[in-house]
Order: sequence, then structure tokens, then C-alpha cells
Amino acid sequence: MEAAFIQKMKELLLSMKQEIVDKLIASDEEFRSLFEELEPRDQADEASDDTDRRMLDVLGIQDMKRLKAIDNALIRIEQNRYGSCVKCGKKIPHERLEALPYAVLCIDCQRVDERKNR
Ligand SMILES: [Zn+2]
Repeated sequence: MEAAFIQKMKELLLSMKQEIVDKLIASDEEFRSLFEELEPRDQADEASDDTDRRMLDVLGIQDMKRLKAIDNALIRIEQNRYGSCVKCGKKIPHERLEALPYAVLCIDCQRVDERKNR
């Protein structure tokens, strides 16, 4: 996948993340330290359950999910795996990524996933 497209998606993702982070920081100064740098990190176990719960209070489940998805996508950009489906490894079309920059599943796998969760 070409670098210019990925760079564009990265900027989009970072600004989407910034919006959510701003909401958090506006509600609670303590969150500021959590998000001092916007570069993605592998956040396994990084945030405690307590922090997660408080973030959930402020953001609601939708934004929480979005924030995690954005972080995932940013990490995949760092790992040069952005734009490939996490399940089947197929390329995700540009149009899909432009509509949903944090998509990590191709449309086929997404459908299967949604069916499963219903
Ligand atoms: Zn797939």
C-alpha cells in the first residue's frame, strides 16, 4: 500500500483520536497524563480496569470502542500491516478505509463478525 495513502489515513486517525481525547481531558484533568503523547503504544494491560471504567463513564461504549479501534489501526500502521484484514490477510479496499479509517477487517470478515455478534 502506498505511503501517501497511509500517511493520509494516519493523520485522519490521529485527528479522530484527538477529538475523543479532548472530550476525556475536558471532563477530567487526570486523563491528560494518559494521553500526553498521541503516538500509539502497545496498550496491553496498560490502562487499568479502573481507568477503563472511568473512560467508559465519560465516553460511552461507542467512543470507547472507536478509541480502541483507532489505536489498533495506528499500531498496525507502525507495524506496516495497515490495510490488510486481520482475519484473512486480504487487502482492504481504499474506499472502505477512507469511509472507515480504523477498519481492520475486510467487508467479508466484518459481515461474518457481525452475524456472530448478533
Ligand atoms: Zn478478511
